[in-house]
Amino acid sequence: MNEIFMRRCFQLAVLGEGFVSPNPVVGAVLVHEGRIIGEGWHQRYGQAHAEVNCINSVKPEDRSLISASTLYCSLEPCHHYGKTPPCVNLVLEHKIPKVVISNLDPNPLVAGKSVVKMRSAGVEVVTDVLADEGRWLNRVFFHFIQTGKPWIILKWAQSADGFLSRVGERTAISGPTAQRLVHRWRSQTDAILVGTRTALVDNPRLDNRFWPHGKAPLRIFFDRQGKLPDDACLLDDSQPTWGYTPARQGVFQQTEFKICSEGEPMIQRVLSDLRQAGKSSLLVEGGATTLQTFLEAEAWQEIRIIENPALYLKKGLSAPQLPKHAVLRDSFDVGTDRVKIYTSPG
Ligand SMILES: [Zn+2]
Repeated sequence: MNEIFMRRCFQLAVLGEGFVSPNPVVGAVLVHEGRIIGEGWHQRYGQAHAEVNCINSVKPEDRSLISASTLYCSLEPCHHYGKTPPCVNLVLEHKIPKVVISNLDPNPLVAGKSVVKMRSAGVEVVTDVLADEGRWLNRVFFHFIQTGKPWIILKWAQSADGFLSRVGERTAISGPTAQRLVHRWRSQTDAILVGTRTALVDNPRLDNRFWPHGKAPLRIFFDRQGKLPDDACLLDDSQPTWGYTPARQGVFQQTEFKICSEGEPMIQRVLSDLRQAGKSSLLVEGGATTLQTFLEAEAWQEIRIIENPALYLKKGLSAPQLPKHAVLRDSFDVGTDRVKIYTSPG
């Protein structure tokens, strides 16, 4: 039973994706004798936590049951005063007798503190229910809290015979459903990055118009010699953008030019800038050279490959070599394409 209700917490948590970063996504469910009487999730950064929304959702006729119910929560209720009061107090105030948790708070300063507080107040606490799935769901948050660095996702689409594109031209590899999925990924990520050649050849918009849910992510591009034309989509100032390029003429509201010196190691520079801006995740969308640079620097935590099993290009620009130590975490079909998700074991 614990697992069924915890999975429901995960389903609710996912609804917050794209809205709560750099907070974790969290879902909570209140169950009385096998019946869900309340549900909630953390909906927006700085707003109420999942537990608060869950308890507030209980109907007036069920409120007397709260003190005889079990609270399921995908993450340990918070212990400290942040933008909202600590949820552990809420559990005690409502005299909830049992709490089931997937993951403890990854912040070493608070991990387990709420569990101790609840247990010493007589609450029965069960931990580590579907803990691996819970950690995967919040992998960006866990990584950012524990290392202070953004979670880096490398993404590319390849033909069945392993090519990214025909030489020098934009080549459609994946279908429209996969494209929607990519836009969903963008809306879930804090920043998206492309290299010089992709910015020039593909003229990408790097927006999330096919998944307009969540915030518009920060766009990052390299153009160190300043070759990008003024009418390039990346210079349209339509959403927050960082260009690693010589400064340009014009009035920009949302676009920031980050001047870099020749020969400066670019990955470290970008990661350090992201870290300072509190951005917890980065989606690297290409092209081949940029992806290869991240791979060679071992600067990645996750790789997402979209493969079109029916497309054979026979020649063209080869897809990057998947590192030997990459571990397949998930694979699924989307439309006519196949998606494979790998992680780094470290
Ligand atoms: Zn809380």
